[in-house]
Amino acid sequence: MTVAPDDAAAIAAQLGRTPRGMVAVAWRCPSGTPGVVTTAPRLPDGTPFPTMYYLTCPSLTSACSTLEARGVMAEMSARLTADPELAAAYLRAHDAYLADRAELGDVPEIDGVSAGGMPGRVKCLHALVAHALAAGEGVNPLGDEAVALLRESRLSACLPHEEERTDG
Ligand SMILES: [Zn+2]
Repeated sequence: MTVAPDDAAAIAAQLGRTPRGMVAVAWRCPSGTPGVVTTAPRLPDGTPFPTMYYLTCPSLTSACSTLEARGVMAEMSARLTADPELAAAYLRAHDAYLADRAELGDVPEIDGVSAGGMPGRVKCLHALVAHALAAGEGVNPLGDEAVALLRESRLSACLPHEEERTDG
């Protein structure tokens, strides 16, 4: 897998730095700009990197931060402890994340470590949204919820409200 030079340049502009270890664009914004990138579990300098799916879109990054500031993570974490079915689905999301990453290489230092607080907590909506967008609906229940909240909130044009969707 490789990232085209124009995508790599767009991502560098989004992040304000040269991204390391990118292997693919996992999801694109409606404009076609990269929105989520897939990063190798070991960076070129040897550093282990657990966050395989990384949200690069500035609009979505900012929108996720707004949801976090509204207390969404604490509310989700509380539901995880109270709802065994949700906890089981979230554990499956964690396992799916690790299975995807295993295809990119074995990095013993981060064995069993996924992202976003999985499997027991919610610590980063950006990571969960990135996973939900990369994997598609039905893999990460709380990532899917966060995507739905982003659509309802109209916080980002990159995840338009259902009524405004043009992608079918
Ligand atoms: Zn975007």
